[in-house]
Amino acid sequence: MSLKYFTHGRRDQMKVALTFDDGPNPPRTDQVIEILNNRGARGTFFVLGKWVDRFPQAFMRIVESQHCIGNHSYLHQTHLGDFDRAEAAIGNLLGRPTEFLRAHYFNFFTCLYSPVALAPGMKIIDADVNPADYAKSDPQAIVEATLGHPNLAGGSIIDLHDGRETDDDALRLASPLPMIEALHDIIDGLRAKGFELVGLDEMEFVDPIEWRPDGRGTFASSAARAAIERLGRQST
Ligand SMILES: [Zn+2]
Repeated sequence: MSLKYFTHGRRDQMKVALTFDDGPNPPRTDQVIEILNNRGARGTFFVLGKWVDRFPQAFMRIVESQHCIGNHSYLHQTHLGDFDRAEAAIGNLLGRPTEFLRAHYFNFFTCLYSPVALAPGMKIIDADVNPADYAKSDPQAIVEATLGHPNLAGGSIIDLHDGRETDDDALRLASPLPMIEALHDIIDGLRAKGFELVGLDEMEFVDPIEWRPDGRGTFASSAARAAIERLGRQST
């Protein structure tokens, strides 16, 4: 068994895609939408099903602003069925299937057991520009990590985060999201380099990567794997 995923679109076109993971996260997501809309840019939001169920109006504000929607699982855990459960929540409001799916932590193992992930119309999307905005506190550092990223070129897919998977509301809402402050400069900087900002539905993907399962993907986390390996050693 194997699957194919994409990290970028055509390199001979000056299109790049801003993607936002782990929302909707009101009111942060609304700030992101406002910045995109004010600058006439489209983005793609890889939403979590649990947030779509909980914040349906916030989700619909993304849709009504004509941004592109992708499936990023329900719980953000490597549970079998997590993409399929998210698809039901998203499809309920969107009224059609999603065309794009992003694996959490880019762990593709769960995708192999998901009819939604393997559906012919679905594209599994990674990114070639990862500024690690979630790990940075300084907006300028996020701008530089994006605009100065060695992979940034026509067809690039940029991975940013407008939300978090944590169920701790206080933690999620109190965490600063410096990406929002960085976003104006990211958009302006990309345009200054001649890029057009498009949704993934305006991009033609090339150079699929074939992924085959290996031992790493079968565990929910590296901590789970270590625990299971410890158990194995104790029993021998
Ligand atoms: Zn995520």
